[in-house]
Amino acid sequence: MPASRRVTRAVSAVLDLAPRRGEVSLTRLLDAVSEDRDRPIELKMAELPFGVCGQWRQYADRDVFLIQKGLPAWDRTLAHELGHLVLGHEGIPVVQAARENTEMASSDLIGYMLNQRTGCMGPSGEEAEQEAEDFAALLLYRLGRLPSDRSSIVQVRLGEAFG
Ligand SMILES: [Zn+2]
Repeated sequence: MPASRRVTRAVSAVLDLAPRRGEVSLTRLLDAVSEDRDRPIELKMAELPFGVCGQWRQYADRDVFLIQKGLPAWDRTLAHELGHLVLGHEGIPVVQAARENTEMASSDLIGYMLNQRTGCMGPSGEEAEQEAEDFAALLLYRLGRLPSDRSSIVQVRLGEAFG
């Protein structure tokens, strides 16, 4: 299914934020988006519940993307979570999430997090998931087609990304 115009525009907007010089990697794009929004985005590896690839946690003063440890396609998951963020898919309030999933119900999380969105790639009936998937696919595709000295998507290693 071709990406909607909304998704295409979001991908272009993110790529427009890329530094004009030097290589453009996903993590650099993340920095650029965070600067543009004037709100930090943190990237962390985590042991998430089985079957979950990534999670976006929204705090009062920052956003955190958690990526499942050892995930082979972590860049895809990261792009997917970024898609949720730039497309304004807010997720659900943490208090509600905690009620639905006792695993998450630590008082820390409830006290400091506003919203969260947990999920994995793959077929999903939810429109927001499909949009985030389309965003991730298009972003990675367009990153890969940048002149080779500007695209470092293949060379970025986990250690650098999560350092
Ligand atoms: Zn998702």
